[in-house]
Amino acid sequence: MNKLKPKLSVAIIGAGLAGLSCADRLQTLGFQVHVYEKSRGPSGRMSTRHGEGWSADHGAQYFTARDPVFIEALNTWIKAGVAANWNPCLSIYEGEQWREGNSTEHRYVGVPAMNSPGQYLAKTISIEFNQTIDKIYRQDGKWFLHGLENGEITQSFDYLVLAIPSPQSYALAKLVDHSIGAICSSVNMQGCWTVMARFSDKENMPFDAAFINGGIISWISRNNSKPGRTGQEAWTIHANPQWSQQWIELNKEEASKRILESAKKLGLNCQNAEISIHRWRYASGAINTEMGFILNEGSKLNLCGDWLNGGRVEGAWLSGYKLANAMNISAETNP
Ligand SMILES: Cc1cc2nc3c(=O)[nH]c(=O)nc-3n(C[C@H](O)[C@H](O)[C@H](O)COP(=O)(O)OP(=O)(O)OC[C@H]3O[C@@H](n4cnc5c(N)ncnc54)[C@H](O)[C@@H]3O)c2cc1C
Repeated sequence: MNKLKPKLSVAIIGAGLAGLSCADRLQTLGFQVHVYEKSRGPSGRMSTRHGEGWSADHGAQYFTARDPVFIEALNTWIKAGVAANWNPCLSIYEGEQWREGNSTEHRYVGVPAMNSPGQYLAKTISIEFNQTIDKIYRQDGKWFLHGLENGEITQSFDYLVLAIPSPQSYALAKLVDHSIGAICSSVNMQGCWTVMARFSDKENMPFDAAFINGGIISWISRNNSKPGRTGQEAWTIHANPQWSQQWIELNKEEASKRILESAKKLGLNCQNAEISIHRWRYASGAINTEMGFILNEGSKLNLCGDWLNGGRVEGAWLSGYKLANAMNISAETNP
């Protein structure tokens, strides 16, 4: 951006990895950025539940890095001590049989918790937490926002970025742009029931992590096998997307009971464990878009997020980063 011109202002809704990478890149390119986040911390679905003496990653479990630009970002996180390689003893359950998993794939995790890279990025970004944006509108060439908790936001913005899952993007975008609303509503995001089980001693399982094919569980992992984790032995169990979506309105006790019965059949007996459960309403689902983001040069309402770019951590980061670059080019050529 031309350094002599006043800075263009951008509001980003959502401080998940897509919103954070977009904000970080836009700042580097000279934009003035402000992020609004409904939770009390950054990192979205790349998250960790903390309790007394224990913690467990209950959203994304690990991530891969294939794109050179993302690998570069990952290397800065590793250097800063907020990410590291995770090399679990991996099993696969399929056709009612166990076999060894592929351990040649490089898997990475946040350190000491999955939300650490997000917290690291958030340090240099202006973010307002506990601020759920429930209305957006455009007036006299500027974007205005309304927050559920605090009402009208006084500042107006040149650009608006929605960095939130598709159903939440739909709820905001449908009021101002029907075509974007239609894209958002075309994505079928599915939920995920997640159980976290804490044990007083190390559980004697023959793996650190397992992909489960068949039955209601899709993934089991020992949180303490990840680098930098301390505290009580904790396991994370994800129910599969189809089962979770079908039973998304189940009460927590019943969902927990059914998942734990299934875990027991797989050899993880949680009878003496302390249990927490989390319902992710929008866990997974994506559409293929050519660019991995949506840029609107006319209205200056732009979208990024995992659901526009493959549905994983790497895709989320790249979606935000690439959108920021595209906004910069657009600002130069179409002020
Ligand atoms: C159970 C589970 C397991 C997963 N496992 C893996 C895995 O192993 N590997 C992998 O690569 N990926 C995994 N993922 C996917 C990965 O977590 C996501 O792809 C990635 O974190 C998405 O980042 P994002 O920034 O696009 O969205 P999000 O992380 O969802 O960020 C969106 C943010 O916007 C906020 N927000 C939403 N609406 C509003 C609003 N109206 N106002 C203000 N703020 C709002 C939310 O609170 C959130 O912080 C998993 C996800 C889940 C849920």
